[in-house]
Amino acid sequence: MHAAPRLRIAMLAPPWIPVPPSGYGGIETVVAVLTDTLVERGHDVTLFAAPGSSCAGRTHAVLDRAIPDEIGAARHEVDHVTTAFDVIEGDRRAFDVIHDHSGHVALAMADRVSLPLVHTEHGPFDASARAFYGRHGHRALIVGLTRSQIAEAPHGTRLFGAVANPLDPLQWHPGGPREDYALWLGRFAEVKGAHRAIRAAQLADVRLVLAGVVQPGQERYFDTQVAPHIDGDQVRFVGEVGGEHKRRLLARASALLMPIRWAEPFGMVMMEAMACGTPVIAFPEGAATELVEDGRSGMLVQDEHEMARALDRVAEIDPARCRARAIELCDPQGVARRYERAYASAIEARGVGRASQTARGRRASPVRPTA
Ligand code: UDP
Repeated sequence: MHAAPRLRIAMLAPPWIPVPPSGYGGIETVVAVLTDTLVERGHDVTLFAAPGSSCAGRTHAVLDRAIPDEIGAARHEVDHVTTAFDVIEGDRRAFDVIHDHSGHVALAMADRVSLPLVHTEHGPFDASARAFYGRHGHRALIVGLTRSQIAEAPHGTRLFGAVANPLDPLQWHPGGPREDYALWLGRFAEVKGAHRAIRAAQLADVRLVLAGVVQPGQERYFDTQVAPHIDGDQVRFVGEVGGEHKRRLLARASALLMPIRWAEPFGMVMMEAMACGTPVIAFPEGAATELVEDGRSGMLVQDEHEMARALDRVAEIDPARCRARAIELCDPQGVARRYERAYASAIEARGVGRASQTARGRRASPVRPTA
């Protein structure tokens, strides 16, 4: 199946949510599809992840329990990464490369492990991330998700390039009749714009289904800007969704609304919707401009008013083109091939680094007086 040499990969997932996730979990879904595809391609992958995880390779549960309600807590991330590093370093001959998706601790400590490390940055290079990468972005080989995301990486970041998130085309497929609702799906962070989706649906007089998770810190936004509009009719809230329920919601919606106001680094929900043949109507921020072809696989609009008008015209978009676009961008085999190149590049760079350290060491050794 694969032409690249067989590699032994330590895949480091975040500590919060099992892989694959039963509901919310963009990074966990990516890790699941990538791990299974790499195993299918003949690689030996060990997944370090939250308890409850499973994959086609070996799974090593790092902490005692999954902790979705404590997402982002520094103590857990440090505990997860150092514990995984101890296991990997304890048997370093068992691995060729570490692929880290876990956050930022592993990157900051990457030069403390002897193996080469590839780090996928799943977030935007905003001001705080830029400061972080300015200090630590040389410690590993960094992979981004889209061109628009990596264009913001600061000077000094050791960038491999952009590799799209993989998506399983068998898992995401059209099916069932379209129904008369638009869908918003995600986490209730203000930047994701559930309140703007509500406004657009109200302006267009279209029904809206809101599906998603209220994470710690998002309660106030949800209570004040979202909940007051939920009436169980024009605006319905179905909570966190997963599995077949989520696919059906995506496949039957007239459109997925993405009224984002941030530099979206990727936006898996856009690809999931498109793979189901559902057009995406998005604000032109970050990856949306790169993934959605305006007028072909979706529409790019400036604000809620334009979004409302686009909802009237969304039937003009060809569902087959939406699906084709998602598959063209996110084919798991193509994504795995790009990661094989990233791993090879990190392994080679580590070898060169070692060789030049040895050479420097030799040059630095004191010159012995000749007899
Ligand atoms: N998701 C889910 N159930 C929900 C809400 C979201 O399974 O109730 C999934 C969604 O399908 C996607 C991921 O969570 O796979 C969110 O990833 P995305 O890249 O869109 O957003 P972010 O990582 O920024 O939250």
